[in-house]
Amino acid sequence: MDTDDLNVTNANYERVIAVMNKFLTERYKDLCACPRCLCDIAAIALNYLPPHYIVETPAGKEHGSPWVMVETAVTEAIDRVIEHPNHPRSGSQIRPTDQHRSGSFMS
Ligand SMILES: [Zn+2]
Repeated sequence: MDTDDLNVTNANYERVIAVMNKFLTERYKDLCACPRCLCDIAAIALNYLPPHYIVETPAGKEHGSPWVMVETAVTEAIDRVIEHPNHPRSGSQIRPTDQHRSGSFMS
């Protein structure tokens, strides 16, 4: 049996990443998008959701929690990171760039 293409994966992980990408480009344009904040958001959202491990095959992987649940979890996670970022609000130490606009979202 060829098991090269099989993978155990948390189906909700891909959903969370997909929803995050959508929200960050459509709704939360002023959100700090440094790697630290993005990882925090993903981790918090995944903790809200039940794990949904599946065997991933090339045939397809339409599994995971309902999209509305994933979107709720990501919204909660973004709100939490906005209120309690894991780094000082002014200037990211991880990736200081001009894209890093801080403070404007809350005002
Ligand atoms: Zn950040």
